[in-house]
Amino acid sequence: MVSFKFCKTRQNFLILFLSFIFISCSEQETSNQTSEVKESFKWRMVTTWPKNYPGVGLGAENLAKLVDEMSDGRLQIKVYGNGELVPALEVFDTVSRGSVEMGHGAAYYWIGKVPAAQFFTAIPFGLNAQEMNAWLHYGGGQELWEELYEPFNLIPIAGGNTGVQMAGWFNKEINSLEDLKGIRMRIPGLAGKVFTRAGGEAVLMPGSEIFTNLQTGVIDAAEWIGPYNDLTFGFHQAAKYYYYPGWHEPGPTLETIINKEAYDSLPKDLQAILKTASRAINQDMLDEYTSRNNQALISLVNDHNVEVRKLPNDVLAEFKRITEEILVEMTQEDESSKKIYESLSNFQKNVSQYHEISEEAIYKLR
Ligand code: CA
Repeated sequence: MVSFKFCKTRQNFLILFLSFIFISCSEQETSNQTSEVKESFKWRMVTTWPKNYPGVGLGAENLAKLVDEMSDGRLQIKVYGNGELVPALEVFDTVSRGSVEMGHGAAYYWIGKVPAAQFFTAIPFGLNAQEMNAWLHYGGGQELWEELYEPFNLIPIAGGNTGVQMAGWFNKEINSLEDLKGIRMRIPGLAGKVFTRAGGEAVLMPGSEIFTNLQTGVIDAAEWIGPYNDLTFGFHQAAKYYYYPGWHEPGPTLETIINKEAYDSLPKDLQAILKTASRAINQDMLDEYTSRNNQALISLVNDHNVEVRKLPNDVLAEFKRITEEILVEMTQEDESSKKIYESLSNFQKNVSQYHEISEEAIYKLR
């Protein structure tokens, strides 16, 4: 209507009208042409989790679903559980060599190959979930993670967080350091090394193998995640005591890994969708665990008579002492570990100052 005011004659108006139709049609054609040439991608994602496993496993499924919706089906990702395409502990290598485009798991499963990967899941007595996310996204952690995985042709993204975990299930009471002697425990990563040095014996195995090994006595103890997941695996039927606190995993971050060439082959909008969806799922998983863990704990105690116990202070103090000892060794032996630990520990020192008078102070007052 605004244009109409400026049309002095019918002829002028006709020209303007036809031009409008022409431009509109041209735009329509361009947009049709653009949508026709937009390429679609069918990807595969291998995971370290049992297929459709609540929490961690569904995180990978939810990520695939969200990417599908956000991209209007242009990037479809088929998710495979542990063992469907490759065993859990081969996820890193499989994505690294490009046999599949993506993986989902936890960085500390790969410390045999990349010792500093530990820092991107959790270190004992380290950052909680909120602080891990802050370090990764606003404290330089993400850049260090990308640098660490670069030689393996992988792009890492935070892919979920369970919040503080439980110390684990034990078939024997732990009343002193002496009680750790000879206990075979499923406990991965740096914490496993701490546990072994404290007198026990750490064993690495995927979650799906824990129940049988615990029930048959192949192991005497196991940490997995927390009440929500531990209840679904039925660990209360295989062990009597459920210990806290999760000294070893105060805010474990899971990882989404993407093969770099596959990532580079995506148009910019799909790359952005992939990263944004991962970040959304990272937070969503924490929200779910925060809501469901307490419900599951009530069920474990009330319906299944599980005994919840706190690890003795001297045991926790010894775990902490050994953790610091091992971290010093790691930083002396491995340049990447030194650089990353420096960043992480500085962040922890700084964030703790404020969290003491904010988060902690409020917890104590509630
Ligand atoms: Ca765990």
